[in-house]
Amino acid sequence: MLDVCLLGTGGMMPLPGRWLTSLLLRYNGKMLMVDCGEGTQIPLKLAGWGFKPIDAIFFTHYHADHIAGLPGLLLTIGNSGKDTPLDLIGPPGLTRVVQSLLVICPALPFDIRATELPLPRGAPSLRGASGGAAGTGANVDGEAEADGERDGGLAPLRDVALFDSMSFQYAPADHNIPCLAYSFHIRRQGAFYPARAKELNIPLKSWSLLQAGKTVELDDGRSVTPDMVLGPERRGIKLSYCTDSRPAPALRRLFKDSALLICEGMYGDDGERENAIGKKHMIFSEAAGLARDAGVGELWLTHYSPALQNPGEHIGAARRVFPNTRAGSDLLTTKLIFPEGEGADTAR
Ligand SMILES: [Zn+2]
Ligand SMILES: [Zn+2]
Repeated sequence: MLDVCLLGTGGMMPLPGRWLTSLLLRYNGKMLMVDCGEGTQIPLKLAGWGFKPIDAIFFTHYHADHIAGLPGLLLTIGNSGKDTPLDLIGPPGLTRVVQSLLVICPALPFDIRATELPLPRGAPSLRGASGGAAGTGANVDGEAEADGERDGGLAPLRDVALFDSMSFQYAPADHNIPCLAYSFHIRRQGAFYPARAKELNIPLKSWSLLQAGKTVELDDGRSVTPDMVLGPERRGIKLSYCTDSRPAPALRRLFKDSALLICEGMYGDDGERENAIGKKHMIFSEAAGLARDAGVGELWLTHYSPALQNPGEHIGAARRVFPNTRAGSDLLTTKLIFPEGEGADTAR
């Protein structure tokens, strides 16, 4: 089960009643965030999930509305008693930005591990970016997406391990500085078949280890691997998140088959399309087009322009394209669970 909380839904500046766009996820007692603009501590406090369990903070890009809240949050996390490392993950330039922000929050009681995700070949580079991974927090392959087979001109997606059975993928957004969109996956192993375990004379005490994906050495010298008693990997949970972008083919592929897509809709009205193109953002119906094309289960809109006072007024423009669209609101929360059934389809 994945707990999801959309902490805020604003773009550019926090407003009374609308915090800046940020996402909080909780899985197996661990938490991760995506983006931390000015004031994000406040909805975090209101969500009531605590500060200490935050293990990783992802950044889409380094415009202030996505990162300016980091120093204050780091101090609060420090005051919560956290003493285990915190991973910060984002596009190239992260180390330089974080080192600058750390000047005003020195002497934190936990280590920070900054990981810069290599941009796919052809993506714009950030002037002054140090490039390459700056830490070892996430298991990022430095060559990721630089080589290998191409899919319609797109660099291949790579899975990056996070913790437990959770991993993430990322793809370049189309913004006016380097910007990444993310998808988070919880994989689900195949069903356990007791009949097979009995056939193989595997003692009961070893069953739970095999169910946990561990290889077991039996007293009679045989080695039993999980695949001998488990079915094919089942479909897991996938959530995708994208702000500050035009629609792009790389995003459609990244979002494919997500249970939930949280996507920016800076402007509600279709008449704002030219404005959105110029500012490298999306209108509601464009976000809905991505949701439809990627076959997602549900779409939540976010990152509204401060001028968009009532996003719900324009929801029809999105629902005409993708009916299962919701205008995201601050602290909108849900739980994503594994799909029902013992289907043998692969987790995505
Ligand atoms: Zn923004
Ligand atoms: Zn931006």
